[in-house]
Amino acid sequence: MLAQRTLKSLTRAVGVGLHSGQRVELTLRPAQPDTGIVFRRVDLPEPVDIPVSTLAVTDTRMASTISTGNARVHTVEHLMSACAGLGVDNLYVDITAEEVPILDGSSASFVFLLQSAGIVLQNAPRRFIRVKQPVAVRQGEGAQAKWARLDPYHGFKLRFEIDFAHPAVDSTGQCVEFDLGTGSYSRDIARARTFGFTKDVEMMRSSGLALGGGLDNAIVMDDYKVLNADGLRYDDEFVKHKILDAMGDLYLVGKPLLAAYSAFRSGHALNNLLLRELEARPEAWEIVTFDNERLAPAGFAQPARAW
Ligand SMILES: [Zn+2]
Repeated sequence: MLAQRTLKSLTRAVGVGLHSGQRVELTLRPAQPDTGIVFRRVDLPEPVDIPVSTLAVTDTRMASTISTGNARVHTVEHLMSACAGLGVDNLYVDITAEEVPILDGSSASFVFLLQSAGIVLQNAPRRFIRVKQPVAVRQGEGAQAKWARLDPYHGFKLRFEIDFAHPAVDSTGQCVEFDLGTGSYSRDIARARTFGFTKDVEMMRSSGLALGGGLDNAIVMDDYKVLNADGLRYDDEFVKHKILDAMGDLYLVGKPLLAAYSAFRSGHALNNLLLRELEARPEAWEIVTFDNERLAPAGFAQPARAW
């Protein structure tokens, strides 16, 4: 049987929120089979659980925010991406503020945390959402057009294309494909950092955003070049970060997808819209499990590879 996974032991991290600049403590704890991933605001008078789901996503400006009532957690996508990349099904995420720490702006630190705690198999079959029919969403026309879609695929792969008219982005890749069955998430995707432009950062700060952001946790560009002294971690780090984000956004559906995702200039909002469209069309997908691990798609049968 291809089994669900959780952590072997708990692990902690401390950091600051990218937008709030607030100090935040994170505790990742093992959870029972079929719990899914549950964020818990432990700083509120009564702790509030926020289980991830498509409909729990209530704000997609700048980052993916999930909520239960008035309790929110912002910027869940990088941690969710690490969970998707390593195949963690069940996890409690205790958090002491309303934003996940940005750490180094990628998901590499979360991968390290999860791997250090250890990932164990549980006595329950892993449930996948297998996409049976194409599902697509699009917004805008002409130069403003953006779209995202899911097509049937025995595995999980993502193809992302960006279209940034900036010399530093233009000179690197604007398009990348990643297949969980042939690539390594930790090696190929996890280290890609979020990115921003100095002019946007100034504007965001004046509206109280990006207060915790800087060269330690983002690629920052002026109109011409990358300002980080060490340059880029991958030649095509920008578009790889979009793959990282998409993996996190899509994992908010609550289960691993068996599908080929492709997108042009998509972001948190359109990724969530795609999940809503999928859920609105029950004939387009089904839940599957694998009694025989050897029949599972490549990339899912083996425990996550180390660095
Ligand atoms: Zn991101």
